[in-house]
Amino acid sequence: MKRSCILFAVTAVAACLVSVSARAQMRPEYTEVWEPKPAVVTPGNPATGGAPSDAIILFDGGGLDAWICAKDGGPAKWPVKDGILTVDKSAGDIHTKETFGSYQLHIEWCVPPMDEAFAGQGRGNSGVYLQVGHYELQILDSYQHETYVNGQAGSIYKQTAPLVNAMLPPGQWNVYDIIYNAPIFNEDGTFRLPPRVTVLHNGVVIQNGAVIYGNTRYLGLPDVAPHGDCRIGLQAHGDRSPAISFRNIWIRRL
Ligand code: MG
Repeated sequence: MKRSCILFAVTAVAACLVSVSARAQMRPEYTEVWEPKPAVVTPGNPATGGAPSDAIILFDGGGLDAWICAKDGGPAKWPVKDGILTVDKSAGDIHTKETFGSYQLHIEWCVPPMDEAFAGQGRGNSGVYLQVGHYELQILDSYQHETYVNGQAGSIYKQTAPLVNAMLPPGQWNVYDIIYNAPIFNEDGTFRLPPRVTVLHNGVVIQNGAVIYGNTRYLGLPDVAPHGDCRIGLQAHGDRSPAISFRNIWIRRL
């Protein structure tokens, strides 16, 4: 025991001397990296949901050219009025035309004021499908309204509750800024790296690199199914509450 302690001490001192010696031969510029230079991006105006210069605009108040109807693959049918996109529950979900892997997504959403009779999962339910067919980030009216916590606004549905509840009252615009890292799969279809997501809700971190355990299921446990890039989707939930609205949706590939 005593001998091993002495050996450890001698080794540590030797390593320290080597480190000091190596550092003495260094110059500051030896550890400076100059190329490749990061691309220059002009930031948008956060106050208006403005997109950075390299973002793909998914909805800016105009048409729905970037979206399709999930039911038939035709044009997205949700109504746009005064620059605001509102869910048409009878028309079903909408999906992006383009597919995505890892990305940064900005999306603003508003639950309208409604009768207190609407409750739980039946109150402004919608969602962002981070990759369609797999993972849902929940949208719901969670302002002073309760449901199971891994199903409230900002949850990875039926998996991970948000760290805090940063919801604004009905009638006010909520903002999600989502940093999503797509999974990598092993040849046998299991996760080599599971998907992870960080979410800021109205500027507050509510998911911090949270692991997504598999497909988000209403019924049953998460299951894993290998996939590549996928569309992103917005959910037309079947509850009877008044439809929610969206604005300022943009994305940057990572
Ligand atoms: Mg939902």
